Amino acid sequence: MIPMLSLPAQHADIAGELEAAVTEVLASGRYILGEQVAAFEAEVADYLGTAHTIGCASGTDALHLALRALEIGPGDEVITTAFTFAATAEAVRHVGARPVFVDIDPHTLNLAPERVADAITPRTRVILPVHLFGRAADMAPLRALAGRHGLTIVEDCAQAFGATRQGRRVGTLATVGCFSFFPTKNLGACGDGGLIATADAELAARLRALCNHGSTERDHHEAVGYNSRLDELQAAILRVKLRHVDAFNAARQRVAQAYADGLAGLPGVETPPPAPDGSHVYHQYTILVPHRDAVRHTLHAAGVASAVYYPRPLHRQPAFVDDHDGRPLPIAERVAQRCLSLPIYPELSETQVGEVITAIRRAMGA
Ligand SMILES: *Cc1c(COP(=O)(O)O)cnc(C)c1O
Repeated sequence: MIPMLSLPAQHADIAGELEAAVTEVLASGRYILGEQVAAFEAEVADYLGTAHTIGCASGTDALHLALRALEIGPGDEVITTAFTFAATAEAVRHVGARPVFVDIDPHTLNLAPERVADAITPRTRVILPVHLFGRAADMAPLRALAGRHGLTIVEDCAQAFGATRQGRRVGTLATVGCFSFFPTKNLGACGDGGLIATADAELAARLRALCNHGSTERDHHEAVGYNSRLDELQAAILRVKLRHVDAFNAARQRVAQAYADGLAGLPGVETPPPAPDGSHVYHQYTILVPHRDAVRHTLHAAGVASAVYYPRPLHRQPAFVDDHDGRPLPIAERVAQRCLSLPIYPELSETQVGEVITAIRRAMGA
């Protein structure tokens, strides 16, 4: 079976470096908020090109804490995409605000800026775009809308570490960027982890305190905060992987190019369009096909794994159905029925990519 991804393959490539880093932390006796986290935060700030980064326990926490630090709460509305992982909307609900789901662009599958404009009300406080599958969202029109209406933009960068738009990294394209280091993400830890990036020093200070029980100095608690920290072991692992992340992303891009070439012109199959003014880091390579579930079964029988991200848009999920204001979201619904994500990871071989392409061509009757 060609799997969707292979974490053992990634580990094998850099096992020596990872084991040395982990052994050092184990022997140090310092496991929470030590020099590994501080060094990782500085290295990521440098990589992204931003002033402040704050490690936290997960991508979900990064989003939740960013909204908390911006003082978003009950009565407020946060406009986001209906076609994303549940965590995006969970964070909004965790602060007591309402997620307002809007439709997506049929090709990029990211938030459609025109639909965001339609959804702005006097209660709107935040626009929360997701850089879905590794492609940067269309930020310029969102920034224009935010400027005109006095809104803040929070970027969900969980799937797009390293992606760029107009020469800048995602996570630095708005007020605050939220990252996940869940093991399967493009930069993944060996456990949970997250990070918040911002150029705003005051917001950064508030976030740093919130992540650590509202405390900036020992035995002094300014606000009711959380226990949400990146730990030293994960930070040490992430420092090693950060040195390789550009190579990992470049390898994903090579796989994506091979898929684009191999599937070009295949009737019924829509491949992801190029990202003309930035880099796509292909957290997922997601095509649109008719009779998706049948195609999936045929691929499985041919020894090719595939996955459906996401079979149900969030406004159709029981947890969020009551948040939905009833606006039609036809693109999200159509894409949810046709989307099919193919195996993609840095270590996927050319031969394997060829096998996936052949299996899809056969499944489509070509
Ligand atoms: C993975 C993911 C998250 C949540 O990250 P965790 O670290 O798993 O909490 C949030 N948003 C999106 C779009 C994701 O893919």
